[in-house]
Amino acid sequence: MRAIVLCGLMLAISCVSWAVAEAEEAGAAGRRIPEKLVVLTFDDSAKSHFTVVRPLLLQYKFGATFFITEGWDFATNKRDYMTWEEIARLHRDGFEIGNHTRDHLGITEKTVSRLDEQLSGIERQCERHGIPKPVTFAWPGNATTPKAFEILKQHGMLFARRGGAPEYPYEGGRGFAFQPGADHPLLLPSAGDARPKWMLEDLMRAVRQAEPGRVAILQFHGAPDTAHDWVSTSRDNFAAFMNYLAVNKYRVIALRDLAQFAGTQTVPADHNAIVAERQRQLKASPQ
Ligand SMILES: [Zn+2]
Repeated sequence: MRAIVLCGLMLAISCVSWAVAEAEEAGAAGRRIPEKLVVLTFDDSAKSHFTVVRPLLLQYKFGATFFITEGWDFATNKRDYMTWEEIARLHRDGFEIGNHTRDHLGITEKTVSRLDEQLSGIERQCERHGIPKPVTFAWPGNATTPKAFEILKQHGMLFARRGGAPEYPYEGGRGFAFQPGADHPLLLPSAGDARPKWMLEDLMRAVRQAEPGRVAILQFHGAPDTAHDWVSTSRDNFAAFMNYLAVNKYRVIALRDLAQFAGTQTVPADHNAIVAERQRQLKASPQ
């Protein structure tokens, strides 16, 4: 009897030490990025994010980040843009609400002095509607500047997402997968930025890059985008894209969830080095 108790005790101790070791490993380094990891992001507060995207994502149990701005005629046009009540509902559903500036202001060296108030405008609305302060940012209109990094950090931003440029031209919506350690956490590239002409093969090209250690970050606007037709995705195409991710067993998460994986917040010594390297690769063998 005593031997059995002792055995059980030793087993329990070894289980505890194994669990502690695993927790320490996860805490220190995070989990490794598995293959088929996709981040879904939606920009510009489009009405269809609530009416079309939300039910599909809930059906598939996909995570996602909605980057909110009050730009254009958001305040009065509730045919094309969500209400704050709808945005708050997305948060309560478990989706992430990210910051895309109050006025959809392109952030350049000339406008960076306005970034603090632009971020605060969205933070105040989030607080008013019971939404936590955003910890991720999407650069509006493809403008980026390292002069904004300090302000983004002061506002608690873990990650900021850009488009597929400058490696690829804006028009085609192509891009590279996020490479932790090489890409700056505040300049994460979109592996795909959906355009009206995108077909399933364009989505497949983007997510094929989600190898172990690489994350395919997808950028969508409305599905459809009734206010910005040059970035619209049709309802049918969007449904087909989500079905493809589900059938092919992609793991689909919000941008904030990347923080749990190893190396995603590592800041490279030179954030331009990886961009220059990709541009060299593309020049050598255009894709
Ligand atoms: Zn935008």
